Amino acid sequence: MPGGANPSTPNPRTRNKIQPRQKVVVALFKYEARESGDLSLEKNQEYEVIDDSQENWWKVKDAKGNTGFIPSNYVKEKKLLGLQQYEWYVGDMSRHISESLLRQEDKEGCFVVRNSSTRGLYTLSLYTKIPHPHVKHYHIKKNDKSEFYLSEKHCCNSIPDLINYHKHNSGGLASRLKTSPCDRPAPATAGLSHDKWEIDHNELMLLEELGSGQFGVVRRGKWRGSIDVAVKMMKADTMSEDDFIEEAKVMTKLQHNNLVQLYGVCSKSRPIFIVTEYMKYGSLLKHLQYLEKNQSISQGLLLDMCIQVCKGMSYLEKHNYIHRDLAARNCLVGTENIVKVADFGLARYVLDDQYTSSGGSKFPIKWAPPEVLNFTLFSSKSDVWAFGVLMWEVFTCGKMPYGKLKNTEVVERVQKGLILEKPNQCCKEVYEIMRKCWSHLPEHRPSFRVLIEQLLSISRSILVD
Ligand code: ADP
Repeated sequence: MPGGANPSTPNPRTRNKIQPRQKVVVALFKYEARESGDLSLEKNQEYEVIDDSQENWWKVKDAKGNTGFIPSNYVKEKKLLGLQQYEWYVGDMSRHISESLLRQEDKEGCFVVRNSSTRGLYTLSLYTKIPHPHVKHYHIKKNDKSEFYLSEKHCCNSIPDLINYHKHNSGGLASRLKTSPCDRPAPATAGLSHDKWEIDHNELMLLEELGSGQFGVVRRGKWRGSIDVAVKMMKADTMSEDDFIEEAKVMTKLQHNNLVQLYGVCSKSRPIFIVTEYMKYGSLLKHLQYLEKNQSISQGLLLDMCIQVCKGMSYLEKHNYIHRDLAARNCLVGTENIVKVADFGLARYVLDDQYTSSGGSKFPIKWAPPEVLNFTLFSSKSDVWAFGVLMWEVFTCGKMPYGKLKNTEVVERVQKGLILEKPNQCCKEVYEIMRKCWSHLPEHRPSFRVLIEQLLSISRSILVD
């Protein structure tokens, strides 16, 4: 045998050495390898992590010894898996998203368990058609013996045991627990593969037009025939392209559930294409106007939309990334009523003076705080001001801030400290938050991190969670 060692006798040099514990992860979603250095993931299978030095793509080894990169948001460390191993657990999903998910499934007894907005507690959301289709929410309570229960008569040692019990006995619930929505869509990956931001435009199939904006037409597309994408086709001379292409490498790495994922760019041909995650229901502004016309909307739903935007913005704030053009028109809505912030940072690459200069006709004056109007001074706190205006747009279901007032009149009002009036649909606590976002001095405005807590606390107090 080469080296003369017998594999069955332990090597005396390593015998007493404690092997560093390997990090083992479990796949939450299936992933098909896209490039040669990638590794495919099978849902629920375990993988050993070899290199997790980069945030979004980890190198792992499967049971057969194959190695390659996988998206880190598709796996969870085995020892931290907890409830996540169960199909019915949906983590931080809000009350409203759970409702739309269950309504979409439309099956009697369909349920999910989610984190309640009060930290450390869980809520069961259950769909029943009796006497009419609706979703009921139950807090999972704990007694003084640390047992979990939905009705005091039936206590269990763990939440999975409790769910199992109510799968067989309704025990006071509107229905026995029957199924949970399976195969939820996998999240977007940060770039279409490890270290990939340049996309070959021959691999893009362009489909219908989704809309058009400042930079040109946006079309739905398919990458390699299977992955839904949105393709923004940049009008010539509207942006400083080389600078943007450099920046796109950084932007593909920003990844959060409430940010529209940038997949990459097609920069080798003209016009350049910006390729992002596809969002089924388009712009938040139009969606709000549609909702107002077509169904009654609750204060809870509107507040939930604001919380989602705030979470995406808090991630940008943490990464010292300034949006510069936050508004309802620049947020998009996807399935399950998910709201994501789009177009972050793009404003810096626009070449049109009318858009970039605060005196320009296309400048988003109505979303700008005094320091931007006076000195073009952008910061996360100028984003916070814009977020206050976005909240106002949400609670008016997409009205134009300051109505028909001309930009010059708006500037005058803002400089005098006059602010937008309270929308009818909005309670005084929510309006108080908007007012804080519109503090004259940036340092008096709360951060997004603090805003999330304040908004969640209102949502707890005005809603039954
Ligand atoms: P603007 O320049 O006005 O911000 P965009 O160019 O970003 O607008 O987008 C124009 C329209 O195209 C949006 O209002 C929206 O309806 C649609 N759209 C843009 N991006 C996406 C996307 N990722 N998914 C679905 N629709 C999109």
